[in-house]
Amino acid sequence: MTKQIVFLMSDTGGGHRASANALVEALRVLHGDGVQCQLVDLLTHYGTWPLSRAGAYYQPLIDHHLWLWRLGFGCVNEARLWQIAALTARLWQREGLRRFAAEYPADLYVSVHPLLNHAPWWTLRRRNRRAPFATVVTDLASAPRPWYNPAVDQLSASCPQVQSAALRAGIPPERVLLGGLPIRLAYAQPRPTAAAARAALGLEQRPTALLLGGGAGMGALAPLAAALAARLAPQGAQLAVICGRNQRLHDQLAAQRWPGAVRIAGYVDNMPLWMAAADLVVSKAGPGTIAEALACELPLILHSFVPGQESGNVRYVEQNGVGVYCRHPDQIAALAAAWLAPGSGELAARRARARRLAQPEAALTIAGALSKLLD
Ligand code: UDP
Repeated sequence: MTKQIVFLMSDTGGGHRASANALVEALRVLHGDGVQCQLVDLLTHYGTWPLSRAGAYYQPLIDHHLWLWRLGFGCVNEARLWQIAALTARLWQREGLRRFAAEYPADLYVSVHPLLNHAPWWTLRRRNRRAPFATVVTDLASAPRPWYNPAVDQLSASCPQVQSAALRAGIPPERVLLGGLPIRLAYAQPRPTAAAARAALGLEQRPTALLLGGGAGMGALAPLAAALAARLAPQGAQLAVICGRNQRLHDQLAAQRWPGAVRIAGYVDNMPLWMAAADLVVSKAGPGTIAEALACELPLILHSFVPGQESGNVRYVEQNGVGVYCRHPDQIAALAAAWLAPGSGELAARRARARRLAQPEAALTIAGALSKLLD
């Protein structure tokens, strides 16, 4: 009989959906039509205000009211305050969660979002006692407190720091798995050569820097693109900028005149190919992008991070020697130019470390562990 799996997620940033899709892909490989997976944006469709607008508020909050974001993040990350917040959410969101539980009966629930591990678990336990509930942590090193519910049936940690935090939070060790951060299976398959990927994308055959800002095209991408293009052009390197869903940025950059070889793209659904074409990635410290870059053995220059949620990702990248954080466009451009310069050893050393840290098969590993819960 086909098993029903429901993924609890929300589109706050692009990473949670991307990770859920990677798990669906892996579960299909393992079970074919034996599983039916559904992704539910629980905050948007079943939450009450302000959670129901979290997807819409996420970016403006970070862009224009960072102090409010820091305050909120600090509060939920503090033990006592989080207990109060979790209890409040459980009561406040009760009606919506009951509706969700009734509309989505399942054999397994999997949360890939920090805010969906407590109140939904509580409601589902009462409504559907038998179905197991798993958490797959889709943040990297600084995954905040709401990720950890000691009562879940399984938690998959994205990295050793998250594994330790889960154990400290009281989740029994036999339920904690170091699964890695789930990324698309394409990252686990043999990559095309850089030359083939560049040809497929219509890029020139030159050393290539890829500038990214997560799914929403966040960060100071316009000044960064200008600084990078100015530094890379004289040494014959090229720049590709992916603006994600930031249409305004895309239109602005696409209308600009650039020195040297510069390619501006909007939202792309073939990121593995763009990464295969690149020699280094300049990005916001998003967990998904970091895991994907590592899987492609790409050194990273991080230009920004969401405070709290992504601060630990910066340490993770720097301490593992696969990249650096720098926020000044001119310095970033100088670094990228130095790393891409002919004869520079910087890229090779970082590539080797990225190879050791990468977990391109994380989605399959985690899907295997989830399958055991289905049994
Ligand atoms: N992404 C994509 N196409 C784009 C821009 C981004 O597929 O045009 C993907 C990217 O490969 C990654 C995700 O969106 O899987 C971004 O996740 P991340 O955790 O890096 O940042 P977030 O968007 O959640 O802030």
